[in-house]
Amino acid sequence: MIRENLEYIRSDIANVCASCGRDASEVTLIAVSKLKPNSDISEAIDAGQRDFGENWVQELKDKIPAFPEDINWHLIGHLQKNKVKYIVDKVKYIHSVDSVDLAAQIEKECVKKNCECNILLEVNVAREESKSGFFEEDLMSAVEEIAKFSHVHIKGLMTVAPFVEDPEENRVYFRKLKHLLVDIQNKKVDNVQVDVLSMGMTNDYKIAIEEGATMVRIGTAIFGARDYSK
Ligand SMILES: *Cc1c(COP(=O)(O)O)cnc(C)c1O
Repeated sequence: MIRENLEYIRSDIANVCASCGRDASEVTLIAVSKLKPNSDISEAIDAGQRDFGENWVQELKDKIPAFPEDINWHLIGHLQKNKVKYIVDKVKYIHSVDSVDLAAQIEKECVKKNCECNILLEVNVAREESKSGFFEEDLMSAVEEIAKFSHVHIKGLMTVAPFVEDPEENRVYFRKLKHLLVDIQNKKVDNVQVDVLSMGMTNDYKIAIEEGATMVRIGTAIFGARDYSK
C-alpha cells in the first residue's frame, strides 16, 4: 500500500502544481514516519522516497543508522535544548525552531561538532495556545538575532495549521506564512536567504501547495493512521 499511496500523492502534487502554474519539482514531499516501523520506511525508500520527517529525537536517533546515508532526515517536532546534540549533524533541516535560545543551542553544538545546520523558523500563525512557534510580531527580530550565528542557516518558515474539517479554512494561514517569508526576503538581512515554506499535511496539503508550499509533510496518507497508544 505504501508504494501506491506514494504514487497517488506524487501525482496529486503534480496535478495541483499544474493547476496553479507551479513546477512540481518546487515541492518536496516529506514522508512523516513517526511511530511507524523501519519496515514501512524501507518500503517507502524502495518506492523512491528520500525525505523523511520525524517528531522525536530519540526515535529519529534510533532510526537513522538503519538506513542509507543519502536519506534526508527532517526533524519536524518540538525540540528541547538538551537534545540538540544528538541530531544536529544528522538532519537535513530542523523545521521546528521556535526560539532564539534554541537556535543559539544549535549554533553551540554545531561549533563543537564542526558542522552546519539548516533550520526553519516555526510560526504559530493561527496563534493557537496548544502550539509552539513564534508569533508573527516576534519573527523579524528573531531572524535578525539568529542571522548573526555562523553555523546555523535560516532557510525559511514552517507552520502547523489548525486541525480543521474543511482545509479551505487553513488557506488564510498558509497565505500569511508566505507573506511573512516575502517580508523577510524584502528586509534583506545580511546572511539570510530564505525560500523554504514547510506547510501542509495529509488534510490540507493541496491548499498549502496552492499557497506556495515548497515542502509538504505527509504521514497518514502514506503510512496510514498512527497508533499513539504504543
Ligand atoms: C505528524 C505530523 C505531520 C504529518 O501529519 P499527517 O496528518 O499524518 O499527514 C506533519 N507535520 C507535523 C509537524 C507533524 O507532527
